[in-house]
Amino acid sequence: MDIDTSEPVSRTSTPPSSPTALSLKDEEMLSPSRALPSSTPSVIIALDNDEAIGSWGDLSLLYTVFVHVLRIPPSVKLFADLLTATGCARPGLRTLLDKIRDLKRSGAVSHLVMCTAAKDTVGWVSFLRDVVECWYGEKIYDMVIDGSKLLEWNQTHEVPVLPTGCAIYKDMNQVRALCESPTSPVFMIDDRPENIFNGTTHGVVPYTVAVNLVAVAQTFVPEYTPALHQRYAATLQETWTHFQHDPSRFTVAHRDKALSEATVALSTFVDMTVNKSRTPLKTAEDSTVRSCRAASMGSIPEFVDSPRASAA
Ligand SMILES: [Mg+2]
Repeated sequence: MDIDTSEPVSRTSTPPSSPTALSLKDEEMLSPSRALPSSTPSVIIALDNDEAIGSWGDLSLLYTVFVHVLRIPPSVKLFADLLTATGCARPGLRTLLDKIRDLKRSGAVSHLVMCTAAKDTVGWVSFLRDVVECWYGEKIYDMVIDGSKLLEWNQTHEVPVLPTGCAIYKDMNQVRALCESPTSPVFMIDDRPENIFNGTTHGVVPYTVAVNLVAVAQTFVPEYTPALHQRYAATLQETWTHFQHDPSRFTVAHRDKALSEATVALSTFVDMTVNKSRTPLKTAEDSTVRSCRAASMGSIPEFVDSPRASAA
């Protein structure tokens, strides 16, 4: 089976600037001694995909079975149901997206961008966007920036380009440029905040769950025949097998509060950036920004060899 392995896995490299701290631009914007301009632009929200807002590896593998083995279009509705039924959608994702949608409607947030180092070569990244939006019956994301677009930008804007197999830096100036809003603050949630710069980051602990994918295929995919099972079962079962051997390497989903915390951090950031008459800046600086830094720098486990790191 042709499985996309384009997602980089290294987290050891660091960009030349301080990606997890506020950029100078944002520091200036948040400084208590500096009054916010009357025409403060709306905030752009950027979300990473895999291990940040969900654990998409197994479902991306099922998608690959549909597209490359069965050669039939996968059902968006089926995957939307599986997102929650399997626990692959991170707890709190719906609340986070609800909040972002509300902030967009209020005008405080201008864009929601999916920003992932995974390349959309097999269509999974675009498909996942459709799946998430199926929850709402309307568009939630304004655009997708995949690994290919990130590399293309980095190669032409003096952003370091790491060797193949290493992480891809995410320059929030690219997000601003594509949103045609060069002065907007950008707030990004990512499990690899060390790879982000020129924006404000909120790091989350990587989220990784295992799915009994063979059982899912046998239950929900009529085209998954015994012949296909004999050929692909071991591949489909890979993560589940890892989980059975060492469950400590996977997230205990019901205890995971990362996106709840991220939603609070995001709301606070938007409040203190856009609604200048509200939250005192001193409080916001103390509570939000420093907690983001702490999460970014101190909570990333060494477990980097996710068997489905290619997902998104
Ligand atoms: Mg990620």
